[in-house]
This record gives sequence, C-alpha cells and structure tokens, in this order.
Amino acid sequence: MPLIERITKLDQVKAWHGDIPIESRYTSGLAGERFLRALKEGKILGVKCPECEFIYLPPRIFCPYCFSSLEEWVEIGNQGAVETYTVLNVDLDGNPLQEPKIVALVNIDGTHGGLVHFLGEVELDELYIGLPVEAVFKPEKEREGSILDIRYFKPG
Ligand SMILES: [Zn+2]
Repeated sequence: MPLIERITKLDQVKAWHGDIPIESRYTSGLAGERFLRALKEGKILGVKCPECEFIYLPPRIFCPYCFSSLEEWVEIGNQGAVETYTVLNVDLDGNPLQEPKIVALVNIDGTHGGLVHFLGEVELDELYIGLPVEAVFKPEKEREGSILDIRYFKPG
C-alpha cells in the first residue's frame, strides 16, 4: 500500500518496532528563561504590551495581537482563579494512582493567559471553575528554576 493512500482500518497502520535513536534539546526560550529564573526567586513575572496593555503569562517576546516587542517585565501576584481542570486517576503508563491528581489551567489575576499546574489542598467536591487559588512555592533551597518551583496552587 502506498503511503499516500488514506488509512481506513487501524490494522493497516504501519509501525516501527524497536528503538529510534533521537536526541533533542528543548530550551525554554528567551522569555521562558527569565520567567523560570524569577520562579527560583519566588516571583511570578509577566510581560506587558505597551500598546494593548495586556500582561502575558506565560511571558512571550512579542504581542500576538499588535506584534509589539514585549520588554516591560512586571512582577505579578500569586493569586488567580481556576479556568478549567481535569482529574487524573492513572499515571502516564496507565497505572492507577493511589490518590487522584488535579491539573488545572490557572489564570493569574490581571494577566492574559494561564499556567497549567497541579492543584493541592483542595477536595474534589470543593472544586469549581472560577475557584480563587494562590501559588504555593517550594522552600527556597529546593527551587531550581522550574515550573515545579511552584509546588501547586491551593484555594486562597
Ligand atoms: Zn499588543
């Protein structure tokens, strides 16, 4: 079967059996690096568009609406609200978790965008879209410039 034919039955899908040696390096980018360095200091930084006045979180280097270069970094608070969420009952391998994990999209107050992160210190029956939350940082000595320097968001 030529590769350009449309596959209509899943048993026709060709598969590669074995390992493919691929190496890659992913960088957080210019804005991402500054954002992550600030997390290590316990700060959440956004970047403000001089034209639209939106504060973007996660930060970016240009405005997607007016294409302005974004260079005004602002420290924003750690308070926000749950935009949406899901409950995980299995791990990435499909194994059941002992306790469900909650992953949410959190919009930090006054910003455009959001962070996907874990929720903690919350019961499932207390959870709703719009729940006010605040970031809980790891202790300073444990931070390493990662999004996980925020341990989770809790109601607040
Ligand atoms: Zn703009």
